Amino acid sequence: MKIELFPGRREIEEQYWSFEYSEIDLGAFLTDFYQKGRVRLSTQVVGKDYHITGEAFAPLILECSRCLEPSRHPLRLALSWVVRRVEMLTPEEELSGEEFEILPETQELDFTARIREAIIFNLPAKPLCRFDCKGLCPVCGQNLNVRPCSCRREADDPRWDGLRRLLQ
Ligand SMILES: [Zn+2]
Ligand SMILES: [Zn+2]
Repeated sequence: MKIELFPGRREIEEQYWSFEYSEIDLGAFLTDFYQKGRVRLSTQVVGKDYHITGEAFAPLILECSRCLEPSRHPLRLALSWVVRRVEMLTPEEELSGEEFEILPETQELDFTARIREAIIFNLPAKPLCRFDCKGLCPVCGQNLNVRPCSCRREADDPRWDGLRRLLQ
């Protein structure tokens, strides 16, 4: 997802990309997309800077944190960067995540790695297949969304131990 940056380019331009899960390489974080991802970036020339704004859509398939079933999590992100043309690059750790610097001879910049970072940064910490997912029975492992199990869970709850001792 490269943007051409050269003096005298058109003032404002929109670019669109679609990408497969394998092209953005989210590695171990998730398993797949359920359709292609999409990115729209608009480049605006402001003096010597380029203002890049837009959005990304990542159709994530994530494992539910309760029942472990794969579920769809469409993720939409707003993107915004400033690219500055400089004579000498500032060390990257001194720049904010929204700033880029390029040297006078740089003609294009690839945003794929930054888009990947933005998606990973915004992954839900505890994805759920639905807000009231019942999860798995801790005793028999049955997915309780599919059907209930016959385990008597209160019998295994250590908070009842004191009461059980009194009754013996
Ligand atoms: Zn679930
Ligand atoms: Zn059970």
